[in-house]
Amino acid sequence: MIEYQLYFFSWSKFVNGFVLEFPEFSKLPMIGSRMSLLAISRKYATSATNVKERLVIIGTGWAGFKLLSKIDTKRYDVVVVSPRNYFVFTPLLASTCVGTLEYRAVTEPIRKHAKNFTFFQSKCEQINLEKRQLTIRSALEDASYDEHIVNFDKLVICCGALTQTFGIPGVKENACFLKDIGDARKIRNRILDCFEKAKQPNVTEEQQKGFLNFVAVGGGPTGVEFSAELHDFIYEDLSKMYPELMSKVTITLIDVAPKILTNFDASLSEYAAKKFERSGIKIRTGTKVLELGKEEIKLHGGENLKYGLAVWATGLAPNPLIQSTNLPLDPAKRLITDGYLRVLDKDNKALDNVFALGDCAVVKDAPLPQTAQIANQKGLFLARTLNNTAKGKQLESQPVFSYKEIGSLAYVGDWKAIASLRIRDQKVHKAGFQAWILWRYAYFSMSVSWRNKVLIPIYWLVASIFGRNTSRFQ
Ligand SMILES: Cc1cc2nc3c(=O)[nH]c(=O)nc-3n(C[C@H](O)[C@H](O)[C@H](O)COP(=O)(O)OP(=O)(O)OC[C@H]3O[C@@H](n4cnc5c(N)ncnc54)[C@H](O)[C@@H]3O)c2cc1C
Repeated sequence: MIEYQLYFFSWSKFVNGFVLEFPEFSKLPMIGSRMSLLAISRKYATSATNVKERLVIIGTGWAGFKLLSKIDTKRYDVVVVSPRNYFVFTPLLASTCVGTLEYRAVTEPIRKHAKNFTFFQSKCEQINLEKRQLTIRSALEDASYDEHIVNFDKLVICCGALTQTFGIPGVKENACFLKDIGDARKIRNRILDCFEKAKQPNVTEEQQKGFLNFVAVGGGPTGVEFSAELHDFIYEDLSKMYPELMSKVTITLIDVAPKILTNFDASLSEYAAKKFERSGIKIRTGTKVLELGKEEIKLHGGENLKYGLAVWATGLAPNPLIQSTNLPLDPAKRLITDGYLRVLDKDNKALDNVFALGDCAVVKDAPLPQTAQIANQKGLFLARTLNNTAKGKQLESQPVFSYKEIGSLAYVGDWKAIASLRIRDQKVHKAGFQAWILWRYAYFSMSVSWRNKVLIPIYWLVASIFGRNTSRFQ
């Protein structure tokens, strides 16, 4: 019997692996439907033997990474699908746009943080819940590995969200977003480009002012932290290299809302606004962008602003993958889950093999903002719950997800930050240098690996003693 099980286990593993590696195989006429062989293998594998359930995770962001690093791969056959083979520590991403930190100090290679799992550097294009299949497409440049089918027993959707553009013309084409390392790299090069362009012979003063108008659209933490980091970079480092251009530099923060940082306490948002005013960062609240041209921003009211770089950070839009599931979504276009993070179907019934967490999901009747803290806590919760389930503990006998708020922090420039913390059920607000120490300490201690815990303070120290590196290369 044991021999039979072992034989069967290896056979089904072989078939699964073979079809995954050679999708053409599943198209052979003798196989009939695309994945019938695989379906047969699963049917027997899960009922007649102790073969591990296949748990497929979509995404390697905060939610997927946490889940992957805590899930018991001895009990689950884990497959991860994501176009990137690393995790990004997003709270410090804005620092990499200006070289306060280098890119690799805020990334973690996912293969290093878990063992015995399969990873496909691919984008999931379609989820077929009935057949329990995903269609994935390679994210690598070599297209010969193109399309695959991946089967799952359990699916965890944590594909995050995209940046909201509100369909404003020109944003997709001309703005820089700030979600990933590639974006930070593009922004850093553009900043340096703008200064070099302004130094070219035959450039008029008017043109210089245009090239050196740096615009952030979106007065939330991302737009604010980017503006603050940019201000530090320009006035601490670039001013030494381009002193004659300093009078032409403008940093503009635009938001349609009446004030910035609306998710912080009013006193903290006011502190940040005053701090920006003193630093010379122009805040244009109550201002709507109508169009983003190549060199010009059209504002409501007929005003046109010349710009050199526009960073767009106006909130989140749904990932198209979520919309393709045909599952019900909340008004913010997120999948709706129960307290165990199981996705709810049209009849409000929980699908017991499909989970969703992170920016792409919300717990029914308990809406929370889309933050790393929540994605991280949900990832940990789901890993614990699924590990217990694999040990035989009923899902419903386990506690449901409950969020523990730690606090929010944002850097506002010049070694100052704002912090809103929850200490023993009390909200505590701090602003200034102390909050900055807290900000740095919090993100240093939360960074995932010892490698980055060493690298981050070293880069901070190097940047403060020797300045940031201003070389421009691809
Ligand atoms: C610059 C910046 C700063 C931030 N600062 C903070 C902060 O200080 N504190 C805080 O709490 N939050 C912060 N956030 C928000 C936080 O990063 C997000 O809430 C968090 O990343 C959400 O985690 P997630 O796993 O849902 O999605 P993400 O982290 O966005 O990860 C999504 C993953 O899914 C993958 N993916 C996308 N589409 C597909 C697909 N079709 N198929 C397969 N994989 C796919 C992506 O490649 C990625 O790996 C910040 C965000 C940004 C951009």
